[in-house]
Amino acid sequence: MDMATISTAVSSVKTAIDIAKTLKDSDDLFEKAEIKLQLAELISSLADAKMQIAEVQEELITSDKEKNELKEKLSLNENLIFERPYYVIKQNDNKNDGPFCQICYDNDNKFIRLHDRNINGAWNCPVCHQNFYDEDYDVEEAEKRAKTELDRKMDVIKSVY
Ligand SMILES: [Zn+2]
Repeated sequence: MDMATISTAVSSVKTAIDIAKTLKDSDDLFEKAEIKLQLAELISSLADAKMQIAEVQEELITSDKEKNELKEKLSLNENLIFERPYYVIKQNDNKNDGPFCQICYDNDNKFIRLHDRNINGAWNCPVCHQNFYDEDYDVEEAEKRAKTELDRKMDVIKSVY
């Protein structure tokens, strides 16, 4: 928070009080014009103080927001687990949220939800397009599918020639 803004606000209020005191003690010493001048200064001083206090208020709100974001980040860091090859976030009910892309988080601090690729344990990041394979990845099933796909393409080629 900006301490200079606060002390400027305080000194504006002090000036306003001083002017008010002068006016109060002036009896009829001041000419009407002089009183008007003093009042104008008083109003301007109070307006300055109002602006400076509003500035401090805004800074306090921003600082509060930053504090909360930091708290959230801290609690996130406590619950963020690297479960090779991706990140998951431990939830209160002990279930995990995710998985999230390790590359996108490590590079940009962004949580990008991985999409599953219609085969157990195979994932893809929609942002950096990296493929991930976890321990559930079924190599045999993947090879079977790849072979089926290859056979299908061969059939197409054979039917053409
Ligand atoms: Zn990614």
